[in-house]
Amino acid sequence: MTDPAGTGTSSSTSPTYAATLDAADPLAAFRSEFVGAESSLVYFDGNSLGRPLAVTGERLRAFVDEAWGGRLIRGWDEGWYDLPLRLGDEIARVCLGAAPGQTTVGDSTTVLLYKLVRAAVDARPGRDEIVIDSDNFPTDRYIVEGIAAERGLTVRWIPVEHDSGVDVEQVREAVGDRTAVVVLSQVAYRSGHLADVEAITPVVQDAGALVVWDLCHSVGSVPVELDRWGVDLAVGCTYKYLNGGPGSPAFAYVAQRHLDGSAGPALRQPIQGWMGHADPFLMGPGYQPSGGIRRFISGTPAVVGMLAMQDMLDLVDRAGMDAVRAKSRDLTSYAVDLADAWLAEHGVTVASPRDPDLRGGHVTLRHDRMREVTAALWERDVIPDYRDPGGLRIGLSPLSTSYAEVHAGMAAVRDVLAGGGASRAAQEHILSGP
Ligand SMILES: *Cc1c(COP(=O)(O)O)cnc(C)c1O
Repeated sequence: MTDPAGTGTSSSTSPTYAATLDAADPLAAFRSEFVGAESSLVYFDGNSLGRPLAVTGERLRAFVDEAWGGRLIRGWDEGWYDLPLRLGDEIARVCLGAAPGQTTVGDSTTVLLYKLVRAAVDARPGRDEIVIDSDNFPTDRYIVEGIAAERGLTVRWIPVEHDSGVDVEQVREAVGDRTAVVVLSQVAYRSGHLADVEAITPVVQDAGALVVWDLCHSVGSVPVELDRWGVDLAVGCTYKYLNGGPGSPAFAYVAQRHLDGSAGPALRQPIQGWMGHADPFLMGPGYQPSGGIRRFISGTPAVVGMLAMQDMLDLVDRAGMDAVRAKSRDLTSYAVDLADAWLAEHGVTVASPRDPDLRGGHVTLRHDRMREVTAALWERDVIPDYRDPGGLRIGLSPLSTSYAEVHAGMAAVRDVLAGGGASRAAQEHILSGP
């Protein structure tokens, strides 16, 4: 990073420099709104499980006392029934660049991927290939393999190295008149590589196929313009940069033209439950899908799981996605600078794109000892995560992470590499979440 604070100093490794960056950071004040911000713990895993906001504690307490405890079953009429769609619209407005009526919240990302990919495959009869990259997140690959087996289709793999991601030329080569659907992640979970959604989407569509974008590592971190880019379908997590808490339900986006029949028959998803029925309370014979995005709902929504993310959405809305992205670029660039200054001499390499335009919100550092290093860091209250092969993942959530935190965490990585490792017991604990 070239002197973003305008201090004229070149010693980017000094703690004073980190303090200068924090002082110049327009988003610095947001950090104090998170639980644990005052502790010295370094959190480098906001891309896997975001920290809770302090107001979320109050929201959960009030929900038990008032909404659930006081209103009881009347709550369904008073907002819970429509919450998946209302919250979907909010995520769409704040983070996805999408107009209302196309986004719903519910299920896990895994289950929503199944629903969307199945709906897409069924909308392209006669086409017998699903395209996906070889380094996509495991759940995406497994879902695609399962659907291919179920429907007698073939998976066409785009080969991708662990330290990069998919580019438009690779997609152009992979698609053709046999392609039903292409499944890609905007930000690669391993390398942080940022795919060019705007350029890749029309390449898929020109081949007559549909595209499903997985936004798990982008929503709340990288600005997205689903409507403007003409994306067909998208899914994403809410417990990562949207801080919805462990297991909070995911979102699905289906472009209006695939819901209203203006681009061929409206898409239909395979898990036909009563909550996606045209008239759920008729409880009649036979499934008739609802109009609009509600047809992608299956069963009773996880109302409790949808509470915490509302607070983070408010925060992101106040900060603005462009400001979030600007800080994300600076934070990851700062981490790369410190890795070059401190860790390269220990044999650490940067396994993420060096150009911030090609990188999402995390940086992966590679070294043969990183599993052991991660365990030692956890013992010191420095919390990154580990991804094979030899990858230490530094996830930087712009609203909860300070430059001083990056400095302290990277210094700890340096010290562990230079000296003490972790106990065997601690190493065996390194499992990490999604
Ligand atoms: C985190 C993540 C998931 C997680 O799926 P779940 O169903 O929530 O476990 C899926 N895809 C990608 C790309 C992810 O990063």
